[in-house]
Parts: sequence; C-alpha cells; structure tokens
Amino acid sequence: MLDVIIKGGTVVAPEGASVMDVGIEGEKIVAVATPGTLEASGVRSIDATGKIVLPGGIEPHTHINVPVPDYWAGGKSEVFTQPPESASRAAAFGGVTTYVDFAGNLPLNPGAVPPADPIMAQIEKRRQTFTGHSYIDFTFHYILAGAVSPQTIGEIGEAIQSGLASFKVFTTFFAKVPTGHLWAVFQEVAKHGGIMAVHAEEDDIVTYMEDKLVSEGNDHGSNLHLVHNNLSEDIAFRKVIRLAESTETGIYFVHTTAKEGVAAVAEARAKLLPVYGEALHNYLEFTCEDYKKPDGLAVHTYPALKFPEDRDALQQGLVDGPMCTTATDEWTTYKDVKLSGDTIKTVCGGHNGIETRMPVTFTKLVSTGRISLNRFADITSGNAAKILGMYPQKGAIAAGSDADIVLFDPDIKKKLTLDDLHVDSDYSIWEGFECHGYPVMTMLRGKVIVEDGKLLGSSSDGRWLPRRVAPGVLAQPAA
Ligand SMILES: [Zn+2]
Repeated sequence: MLDVIIKGGTVVAPEGASVMDVGIEGEKIVAVATPGTLEASGVRSIDATGKIVLPGGIEPHTHINVPVPDYWAGGKSEVFTQPPESASRAAAFGGVTTYVDFAGNLPLNPGAVPPADPIMAQIEKRRQTFTGHSYIDFTFHYILAGAVSPQTIGEIGEAIQSGLASFKVFTTFFAKVPTGHLWAVFQEVAKHGGIMAVHAEEDDIVTYMEDKLVSEGNDHGSNLHLVHNNLSEDIAFRKVIRLAESTETGIYFVHTTAKEGVAAVAEARAKLLPVYGEALHNYLEFTCEDYKKPDGLAVHTYPALKFPEDRDALQQGLVDGPMCTTATDEWTTYKDVKLSGDTIKTVCGGHNGIETRMPVTFTKLVSTGRISLNRFADITSGNAAKILGMYPQKGAIAAGSDADIVLFDPDIKKKLTLDDLHVDSDYSIWEGFECHGYPVMTMLRGKVIVEDGKLLGSSSDGRWLPRRVAPGVLAQPAA
C-alpha cells in the first residue's frame, strides 16, 4: 500500500529523465511508473507537474560544529562553526538530504596531536554531536592526522567494518601525514575496502611561499593563490596518485582547485585508476581576482581560488568527467570571524554553502545547457553516493532506494539575498547571485521536511548512515 505518489514530474532516474510517477511506501521508493498507473486511492498525492524530481542532494564535505582556530578568528577562542541544527536546516532548504562530515581531529592547530581515544570512540563521540540535532541523514569521513601510529592503523579495519568507509588525510597544514605514513595508511585502507579522501597540497611549496611572501612584506590574503598554488596541487596530486596506484587504493580528491589537478585526475582515470575529483561550487564562480574586491576574502576556501582558466577547467571537468562531485567544504561562521584575518596565514577557511550548492550548480551548468539533468543528479548526489559507499540506498530515484527526493522548479528566477537562506550567519558570498532553478520541496526517507518555504521536518529526523564502498568503485572509475 503506497503512502505517497509524486505525480507528473520529470523524474531523473538512473536510466534517464522522463515524466513518471514515483510511488513511496514508508521510507522507501517502491515504484517509478508510467504516469497514472499507480493505485492512488487514499494516497497522498504530490503534484510535480512542471517540476524536476531529483535524488536528494548529498553534500560530501562539511565541517559542522568544530572549533575555529584562534588565528583564523582574530584571536578569539571558543568560536565554533555552526551547529548541526542550523547546518542541516539550511541543507534541507537547499535540497540536501545527506551530508558527510568528519570525525577525528582537524589538524589546524600548531603542535596538534592526534587524539588519544581509539577511532571507534571518536566516531561515537562525533555521532552524539549529530544524533537528535540533524534534520537530514549524516555520516563521517575519519581524519587521520600527523604521523599515524601503528596502533591507530590497526584500528582502521574495525572502523571500516562498522560502516565508516572513508578516511581523510591532509598533505599540508600542521598535522600533515608524512609520505611514509600515507603509504602505510593507504595499504591498510585498501586492504579493508575503504577509500581515501585526500586534501593534497605540496607542503614544501606552501611553506616556502608563505615564508617568502612574509619576508617580502607581500603577505596580504589576496596572495593566497601564490601560496596554495597550481604547482603545489600538480605535484601533490601526482604523488598521491602514484602512492595509490602502487597500493591499489581508491582516491577521492577533495576540493580540486587547479587545471593541473583536473588534468592529473583525468590522466589517472584514463589509466583506469579509481580516482575521483570533487569541485567546490564557489570555485565554479569566483577566482583569485575576487580576493582584491572589498570583503573579497569572504569567497576564500582552502587551498585557494585560482585563475579564470582553472575555474573553467573545473566547470568543464564537471561537464565531461574527471570531476565527479560538487561539495562546499561547509564552514559557517559570522562575517566578523570570516573577515578577521587578512594575511596568508590568518584568512579563515570555508564559508556557508550547503544551501546554495544545488541551485548554483543548476544555474551554472543546467540552465546554460552545458549538462543534462542526469549529469546534474550525478554530480550533486549519485556520484557521491557511489564513491563514498551509499549507493543505491542514497543517490538514486529507483525502487528500493530511500525516498530522499528534491523537487526543483526550473522556472524560478531569483536573485539570492540573505533572507532566502537559513544558516546561522550574517553574510553570503552568493548574495546577488541570480539563480535559474530552485528547490521547492525536500523529502527525507518519505517525510516532507521542507515545502513551499516552510520547515516541516524535525531535528531528530536525521540518522547516522553506515556506508560500504562497492568493490567496483575501488577497481576502476565507476562514477
Ligand atoms: Zn574541508
């Protein structure tokens, strides 16, 4: 017995987009059928005529409720990025039904030491931060920082068994993982069927350029792209790919920022290595030129915005392949914190983007005719689900999948203002951005959580999501 039918919309199913009805029973999609063929008596009917019916967005990269280092917060301590209640509320309004945050410690502080607790205890602690406080489903990458001890490496298998399928490392910042340890971590993660999420920059170039610009008195934040530069991404991506190739490890490159990074991922994929690229939506619009504008450092997320040709390469990468997902590196603070530091060492990372990712990507790539609706569903949902081990439970409109669904109205044209957004913040880099197409309804596992601008969900709706990466995703490019 169906509970809900979504009728007459253009349904973006894995096999193609066409006008279909979607039948939902409880938390699951049970049928995708020719219009009018589902038994409809006593069933709630949602009219989706003229709308696009998409799998709920999956945001693969957020930093919610984490301490902002004091050197990013103008010396203030006890500043945190926004909590899960507001981040997930904003996400729900933006058509997002699952996010992937992090457990373990972000290596952002000098002398940062890896936490003493075992991995499983860290995951549990982090799960408690979100349970009962999230409007949408959640899961984590686990951050391994610094020189990873043999004991911690020995805990990786258990974590993967428990459904924590992806591990994050940094090759720069205070607790970068040295190359030898990276090698050891890759071997262990590959052995147990997990995947690596890598923030790849060549630390020697980053620190050399930091010192050089400081000594020359050129350390204004508008020079961040000279520190976190194209060559650094080029070398780091290629080094990580070689380590991955030799250990047969799947790699998910978070925030690709340069045309060299896009090229490195494309070359690896041409060799059939399981390497996947993520692009942040602010990198699809802004460049390092924007740093020079008034309050221009607000657009910054690490590594650094590059040049117009890099922006174009990321866009093209989402159009035809090597870039697989869009994400935000969500890091929401208030404007005074975001703009408190203005040097290459003190500009605060991240911004609030979880609500704008889908409409901005739709506007830039679908409304301009550059990608199909299916490609849009892939780069906002399906590919993240596949790469990170949630597919087809998440990321698909198909019988058996969770009924995580977003209705997009392609005819809405609106200039974004802060009033449109639902974050705990007082600025948006997207203020004034003209959206063509916008989410109008969001459903989480069969429950409508946002409709017509109203929040209908509860912060206890979101659930922890165990993941397991399909072997095919780790064998060759599968998204
Ligand atoms: Zn990040």
